[in-house]
Amino acid sequence: MHLRTDSELNPVFCTIVPPHLLDHLSRSAEPRLAVPARRTLEADALRRDRRRITALAATPVRHTAGAVPTKPHRTLYDCENGTALPGAKVRDEGDKATSDASVNRAYAGLGATFELLLSAYGRSSIDGRGLPLIGSVHYGREYNNAFFDGEQMVFGDGDGEVFLDFTVAVDVIAHELAHGLTQYTANLRYEGQSGALNESVSDVFGSLVKQYSLGQSAEQADWLIGAGLLAPAVEGKALRSMKAPGTAYDDDVLGKDPQPGSMADYIETEEDNGGVHLNSGIPNRAFYLTATALGGNSWERAGQIWFDVLTGGELAADADFAQFARLTVAAAGDRFGEADEREAVLKAWSEVGVPTRS
Ligand SMILES: [Zn+2]
Repeated sequence: MHLRTDSELNPVFCTIVPPHLLDHLSRSAEPRLAVPARRTLEADALRRDRRRITALAATPVRHTAGAVPTKPHRTLYDCENGTALPGAKVRDEGDKATSDASVNRAYAGLGATFELLLSAYGRSSIDGRGLPLIGSVHYGREYNNAFFDGEQMVFGDGDGEVFLDFTVAVDVIAHELAHGLTQYTANLRYEGQSGALNESVSDVFGSLVKQYSLGQSAEQADWLIGAGLLAPAVEGKALRSMKAPGTAYDDDVLGKDPQPGSMADYIETEEDNGGVHLNSGIPNRAFYLTATALGGNSWERAGQIWFDVLTGGELAADADFAQFARLTVAAAGDRFGEADEREAVLKAWSEVGVPTRS
């Protein structure tokens, strides 16, 4: 496998709530809804620019010497509603739970992600070398987002009107960390189809961490991203649905979930890095279709195939959906032979309209 050096890393500033959704919210006539959304958009834009600059001088990653760790090393910080990172240290690995539920949920979510990667795929942390996991909670004031900045996880409290505390959904925590996994492996370029694949891979592993920690089979899983994140007054279940893209919410203030679930509805746009949070619905549904066709635990076969493609070294950084699809077919064959797995993968991509033959 090709191991990237740190200087080749191309960190992504990814927020769980996409700009199109906050944009909609910021145009609300109600200041209590529009103001936090506008502030969140401004803060994200600033940080995105800062990220671009610091990415040029990629910071070397320090590792503990010796054997690859089989236990996570988590450190949690409290931003106390400021925006300086990482904030004040509040919980280190092995420390007792604190009185702050956000800290404890983030700690557990980072642990659950580490656990899935290690026990299902034999990978120690997101870099495969036990990279310590860092999270900061209570970021900003009424901050409506969570993100991974290439080095650490950051969670806002939400405005309480539309979004709740961003540590409530384990799949959101895992989604953000999975951006780190992608950064250390295929390093998919965050733009257009490769960007939508980057987003989709994060949704896939986000959902798998949730399913694994709840002990749910493909049939039992809700296949939602960010369930529990929307305040009770919002008409919606989550941020995205992998099972039925475009159905996660339909609300006066948020608008309607715009995700397509097949190539026939592919969205050409300049916004959102070329619709990375929109068109990700297409590969998301292909994963859902594969996992449910196979049944049982999604992380065992469907998840293994996707993991093999992401980490196998053949996926180009600028891959399109068709290249990714062809590699999943090949990976299914390599790992499971000419069996149900390969058939399920072929059928799933064909159902969402992505060709698997060149
Ligand atoms: Zn993302």
